Amino acid sequence: MDGMAWHGLEQAVAARRDELVALTRDLIRIPTLNPPGLNYREICDYLAARLSARGFAVQMIRAHGAPADSAAHPRWNMIARHEGTGPGDCVHFNGHHDVVEVGHGWSVDPFGGEVRDGRVYGRGACDMKGGLAAAIIAAETFVDTCPDYRGAVEISATADEESGGYGGVAYLAEQGWFDPARVQHVIIPEPLNKDRICLGHRGVWWAEIETKGRIAHGSMPFLGDCAVRHMGAVLAEMEATLFPLLAGKHTDMPVVPEGARSSTLNINAIHGGAREEPPDYTGLPAPCVPDRCRITIDRRFLIEEDIAEVKREVTALMERVKARRPSFDYDIHELFEVQPSMTDRAAPVVRTVARAIEHVLGHVPDYVVSPGTYDQKHIDRIGRLKNCIAYGPGILDLAHQPDEWVGIDDMVDSAKVMALTLADLLAR
Ligand SMILES: [Zn+2]
Repeated sequence: MDGMAWHGLEQAVAARRDELVALTRDLIRIPTLNPPGLNYREICDYLAARLSARGFAVQMIRAHGAPADSAAHPRWNMIARHEGTGPGDCVHFNGHHDVVEVGHGWSVDPFGGEVRDGRVYGRGACDMKGGLAAAIIAAETFVDTCPDYRGAVEISATADEESGGYGGVAYLAEQGWFDPARVQHVIIPEPLNKDRICLGHRGVWWAEIETKGRIAHGSMPFLGDCAVRHMGAVLAEMEATLFPLLAGKHTDMPVVPEGARSSTLNINAIHGGAREEPPDYTGLPAPCVPDRCRITIDRRFLIEEDIAEVKREVTALMERVKARRPSFDYDIHELFEVQPSMTDRAAPVVRTVARAIEHVLGHVPDYVVSPGTYDQKHIDRIGRLKNCIAYGPGILDLAHQPDEWVGIDDMVDSAKVMALTLADLLAR
């Protein structure tokens, strides 16, 4: 497409500003809370009705048997496809339709879709109903403005990203929907800002570490073996050796914020000894030497690291502690792992979106990597599709917060970028 045609497409997107706001508000007003997974069918029905009226072929896919899928809370997904007039690539926009709990501290109705000062407010406004709406407006405008394009445009609205994506993108990837033979470019409109291209994310390893002891009367602790003291020794060893080791590992991945450009470890939870009683319990605890103590660790690792080495560091630490404490024993129970993912900057979708950003915003994009994971992991690892990025309007820091909002100008600008991306990849 030439400059004039690009300009016409931008104008056509700008002309749908009110429609973009109305669509975002409608999506916010369907409270798709996860957990437990409310109104998934309703939001898919809404999108299916809209897109089928505009010439898209729509399929509804329930993730039967996925975690949390049930008769009461079925995990519904929607995929809409628009065919061009000849062979070519398929560009796929994937947005999760679920939102996290509301929490406290709101000054507006979280499901009202209030518009004020150039912003749309509500749970999911930025993460990521505003991005999904921008992608839909971009796709609709493109197929209307360039009806003789080649290839295909797809939009999916998927379940459960906020709880791992197993009832959403992971399920679809397992069914072949992200096979590189049918989809060649994927854009996930997560709220990374309209001038940033997110290439991927760090890796994750979650594990539970348990120290073992022997129960005895609390007045004679020498007759037992205190699992909490063993855990204290584990934590001291982490402070002395593991945390400094991790802080010294730096990545070439452009992770934001900067603090996440090293390896990190969080201890998500610790439990040892007698169960905590509810606050209204008026009795005293019974004196026992704790025979079990557990922590949950959340290790985030870099593309330069090998997950086997990540695990070996922890096992080696536990063995060092064991060597110093004769009665000590432990278990490591692995919970969850995700490999890091990073799309090459020279990949076609990256270069095309970068050109569109430069055209619309007048400056080159920033390239970033997310500290936490998102659905790209499933497209990469299960779908085997490497040409995938996150790009969308909104400020990531607002995600999951009270008074979440998305800027209307930002949505319009990123919809322009997405429409120009389609034109660059598909227009004759
Ligand atoms: Zn999200």
